[in-house]
Parts: sequence; C-alpha cells; structure tokens
Amino acid sequence: MERRILYVNSGPWKAFAHANGGEAIEAPEDVLGRPLDDFLDGDSIKEQFRTLFEQVRDGSRQTIGYPFRCDAPGTVRYMRLTMSAIRDSSGNIEAVLFQSTLLDERHREIQAIVDAHSRVADDSAPVQVICAYCKRLQFPAASDQWIEAEEYTAQGGLASVRLSHGICPECASVLMARASAA
Ligand SMILES: [Zn+2]
Repeated sequence: MERRILYVNSGPWKAFAHANGGEAIEAPEDVLGRPLDDFLDGDSIKEQFRTLFEQVRDGSRQTIGYPFRCDAPGTVRYMRLTMSAIRDSSGNIEAVLFQSTLLDERHREIQAIVDAHSRVADDSAPVQVICAYCKRLQFPAASDQWIEAEEYTAQGGLASVRLSHGICPECASVLMARASAA
C-alpha cells in the first residue's frame, strides 16, 4: 500500500526550518505527494513506524500516539505525534491524519550538533547516531550510553559529524508497547 502525503497544514515553513537548523523542507509543496518513507531515516525506524501506521490504516486501532522530541539548537521541544483514522460517510478508512502537538519546551545554550548549518561535515566525517525520537546521542560510538546534546558537547563530542538516525533502547520499548497495546 502507498503511504503518500496528501495534505499538510499551511504555516511559516521556511522560517521554521531555518530557525531550527533544517533546510530540506521549506514549503508544503516540497512534501505533498512524496512517500512518507522519504522522511524517515533508517530501516528500523521505517519498520517501527509502518507497524504503528498499519494498525491505524487497517482499522484495528482508531488512534495511536507517542512522544518524541523536535529540538532546535537552542530549544528542547517535547512533542506528541498522533495518528488517527479518517473515515468516509460509510465508515471506510480513507486516510490517516497526523497531528504533532507541542507539550512543553525549554531553552538551552545553542548546541552545534543539532544545527544543520554549523554541522559542517564531509563524507569522511565520523557517523554519530542520534535517537530519532528522544534526540539523545549514542556516545561514545557503539556504547550503551545515550546522552543529551549538552552532555555530548561537555564530553568532547564534535559537531563535525554525519548524523545517522537510530532508536535508543528506552524509545524502542515505548514504541513496542504502543504497537502491542490493544
Ligand atoms: Zn530515544
């Protein structure tokens, strides 16, 4: 089944992307019609997401929600993503609605590792894994330690890395629980 983006709400996309260290998505036209998978980095994330999405799409769950972080270099944002089935007048599911809600935010010192503009890295730069959901960094590489950007900087972590998205053990268990909840 296709999972394409059919509609997005209007908003100051360009200003938001720029202020938050991103630049790939600047306008609604940039995402409409594109497969959702384009915006998910990493096979385990795609698979986990698909599991949740399909439960809403096939009607076995009306709504699924989970927490995630959407940080900017100088702001930590606690968000919640909710997927809900949209039904036509006969009750058939015709689409899935995604809603992101800001739960809380706090300011912090600017963290270069979070900023795409200052994170200048070429193909030879080391890969740094970041949890796609809670935005903690696996540091040192391949260790069991997942730390906040502030701690990463304090422990000597560099901004000149290539970020790769993964899932930390805590977020993996939260998502697994969401997927299996009746
Ligand atoms: Zn995590």
